[in-house]
Amino acid sequence: MSKRIKCGRLFTGLEDTARKDQTVIVDDDGIIAYVGPTAAAPPPGARDKVIDHSGAFVMPGLIDAHTHLTFGGTQTLEDIDLYAPLEFRALRALIWGQRLLHAGFTGVIDPGCTGRTMIAVRDAINAGMFEGPRVCASGPFIGNYQGYTAFYPTWINNPTAVYAHVDSIDNGIEIVRSFAKDGVDFFKFALDGSAVDTKGGLAASMRLDETKALFGEAHRLGKRVIAHSKGQSGAETAAKAGADVIYHFSWQDDASLQAVIDNNVTICPSLVIIHNRYSFTQQTDGHGMGASTAGRLRDPRHPEWDGHGARSDLGRSEWKGAIAAAKRAYEAGVPIMVGSDSGFAVCPVGEWNALELVLLHKHVGMKTCDILKGATSLNAQFMPGGHKFGALEKGRYADILAVDGDPLSQIDVLLDKSKLTVYKAGERIKSRPPAINYRQEQDFSYRMWQEIYDQKFVKALAEASRLQAFAAE
Ligand SMILES: [Zn+2]
Repeated sequence: MSKRIKCGRLFTGLEDTARKDQTVIVDDDGIIAYVGPTAAAPPPGARDKVIDHSGAFVMPGLIDAHTHLTFGGTQTLEDIDLYAPLEFRALRALIWGQRLLHAGFTGVIDPGCTGRTMIAVRDAINAGMFEGPRVCASGPFIGNYQGYTAFYPTWINNPTAVYAHVDSIDNGIEIVRSFAKDGVDFFKFALDGSAVDTKGGLAASMRLDETKALFGEAHRLGKRVIAHSKGQSGAETAAKAGADVIYHFSWQDDASLQAVIDNNVTICPSLVIIHNRYSFTQQTDGHGMGASTAGRLRDPRHPEWDGHGARSDLGRSEWKGAIAAAKRAYEAGVPIMVGSDSGFAVCPVGEWNALELVLLHKHVGMKTCDILKGATSLNAQFMPGGHKFGALEKGRYADILAVDGDPLSQIDVLLDKSKLTVYKAGERIKSRPPAINYRQEQDFSYRMWQEIYDQKFVKALAEASRLQAFAAE
């Protein structure tokens, strides 16, 4: 019994425009058997099921190229690393994965988790044990004390950390080999963190020779490499060492852009995290742009720079930089993958993933057709087996999104989950993921108070009538 999906408009993920009056026929295995004009479709069998999306815009399921399912909606970096057991993190990732699927994303690239959690989640979904998006998984970040995710001081040795510590080229190569042995799809390297170089930008975490050696081993083992590089130096180093993809790419110049072009690197700006952190955060948040918090929680080890967003001037500067760099890269023809860096309290998984597409259009000036191709067929190309999904074409899986609207002319319709119908391998996703008790699900930290209540602070609170009982006495 085949399914015949009547499409009002059909966007294949490979072309710039949508076609009219098309039909997609899906066979029993969830594979597309026909895409083309309804009039030319093979005649229906007596038992074929017709699905009418003749009022909808039908396109491939979206793929987010940068989401951390194990983080979910993390409020503290400690929650990523320290408190919850690995087994809990894997279960947590499953639920967030289901939320992502409901938001129209049938695939996800998950770059950086603790332990082998995302390998387990990927394999469980692939085995049909749980509903979820197609997962392309790395293990932990690979880096050193100068790279992002080396959150803690050197005396804390956390064996289940979100990063694996490289202390020499030989040991880095061994880490790459062990991750490959355990089944990662690709490697995530932290090419910068929060250290500042002599020019005042972010310092690359590794020298070029070290980076080349580690990326080279990854490639020798047939795996691709994504580098986290916000700064110029890390991006230039990553590009020259042969990175396949660079995430963030926030503060860039001619030299790093040229290195990206010369080495055929794809970039994935990941604007949602920058935008939301900058736009949503309240003054009571430790990591925020609010006037009362700005500068208060900056990293004392690197007073010139704070990678966690506590300095409002840096939040503003990163947003401007990331927009400018993405614009220049787009105009230079650099391929742009679409990923939101969801997984944090300001961008919980499944809520704002589609905002990345909106920001790329509104602020970077990308054409909507390029964004939609990026979020489908281009993102899929990075994933193992990606030639089997990511586009509506004969022989690929019927991972389909039917949209009540026209994302080519109004891309923010993709943020409205009530307007989306999702199919993975031809099966409609129906059951809603359970509501999550965020407090039980996220907060394992021992932090007890946001403020330090010395007499001066309590007096100020009372004067502002924020401490009712005290003020009343
Ligand atoms: Zn990330």
